[in-house]
Amino acid sequence: MDFTMGEAAATLRGELRRLIAAEVPADFLGAFTDDPADLALAQRFCGVLSERGLLCAAWPEEFGGRGASVWEQTVVREEMWARHEPRGAQYMGVNWVGPTIMRHGTAEQRRKHLPPIARGEVIWCQGFSEPDAGSDLASLRTSARRDGDGWRISGQKIWTSYATMAQWCFLLARTSREARKQQGLTVFLLPMSDPAIEVRPIRAMLGPHHLNEVFLDGVRATEADVLGEVGGGWAVVQEVLAFERVGIARYARCERLLHDAPGAAGEVWDELPPALRARWTRALVHCRRARLLAYQVVSLQDAGRVTPADAAAYRIAVTRLDQESAAVLAEIAHSIPPNTPARNHFRAAVADHWRYANAATVASGSIEIQQTLLSRTLLPPPDPRAAA
Ligand SMILES: Cc1cc2nc3c(=O)[nH]c(=O)nc-3n(C[C@H](O)[C@H](O)[C@H](O)COP(=O)(O)OP(=O)(O)OC[C@H]3O[C@@H](n4cnc5c(N)ncnc54)[C@H](O)[C@@H]3O)c2cc1C
Repeated sequence: MDFTMGEAAATLRGELRRLIAAEVPADFLGAFTDDPADLALAQRFCGVLSERGLLCAAWPEEFGGRGASVWEQTVVREEMWARHEPRGAQYMGVNWVGPTIMRHGTAEQRRKHLPPIARGEVIWCQGFSEPDAGSDLASLRTSARRDGDGWRISGQKIWTSYATMAQWCFLLARTSREARKQQGLTVFLLPMSDPAIEVRPIRAMLGPHHLNEVFLDGVRATEADVLGEVGGGWAVVQEVLAFERVGIARYARCERLLHDAPGAAGEVWDELPPALRARWTRALVHCRRARLLAYQVVSLQDAGRVTPADAAAYRIAVTRLDQESAAVLAEIAHSIPPNTPARNHFRAAVADHWRYANAATVASGSIEIQQTLLSRTLLPPPDPRAAA
């Protein structure tokens, strides 16, 4: 397999780095801080990317992209995550909402939803998890009942990222009871402005906007709000999760912070315990491993051959890397006296990375569930005779 990204991708990487240097302050630590200026910056920056066709680079031109290769889109992902994601919550629309609507939406849904995402004007949230349905998502209880020519949706979602600021929700609800719980689920595209939707933020160490509860009390939906087939939601969600699980280039931020560490430490670097520097080296090797697994999934996705096990293998490697590098970096940062702005920024960036890394093995499906998905492919099915 050839993972050389090519000249266009290298040119794009240079263009993005120049753009970020010009538009995003060097001490930016993400859109979701206690300072509303960070969120405003992210929203502005999405407009800048969009004007250049870079927000949804790999989308067809008719939907606001520039028909770039998946490798160029991968470069966008890497450069953004490495710099604390200056697109803010927009990455969700770009990574999985848009592609899924492109594949399963009607012409009207594409026309309505894709251009605003490509212009960076709308934020989507994902209404899947419920208080008793996370890992076992198919057990969800939010129900959509027939009501005249449409539906009434009631229930509760939880851990819904960005629900306080989202204009749209990509919601999974039960439309019928079937023998298999994975059947009878349907995806709805709902406006968050509906008065029958209430959002309650959950305070968490990730900062504002990240985690929320969403209550739906008889939300009215029409046939035009259904994405794909009624009852066909499970297949759509499997695609969403595959896109989502590789949508964040976590290795890029780990690599950048690990590379920044010796410079930030300065003369202290040589005094660090050799065992800590050995762990730093190992983490850099694991960055390369996660990067290669990501490229493998991108290439399989491009060929339409990706399986849940491929995405799971990457996800396991990259979330473990996130936590490994966070632990190494935290020890290094702890050993650096905070006496210069550069050192202070490094320490703040490491603290931010550490917070995200801790949630990484739960978000988008826990690591135990990823391991199950992978083992189903790698291990032979149990031998019924063994139990006899
Ligand atoms: C930062 C963050 C952002 C999130 N954003 C969203 C979002 O935007 N939208 C959304 O819908 N959800 C979101 N989630 C929710 C996330 O998808 C769920 O937390 C996750 O799927 C786990 O579900 P749960 O929390 O209900 O835990 P549970 O499913 O109750 O699991 C608890 C523990 O038991 C383990 N476990 C459960 N079942 C098994 C099993 N069969 N085998 C082995 N171990 C098992 C799990 O691995 C886990 O360690 C987010 C979560 C986080 C942390």
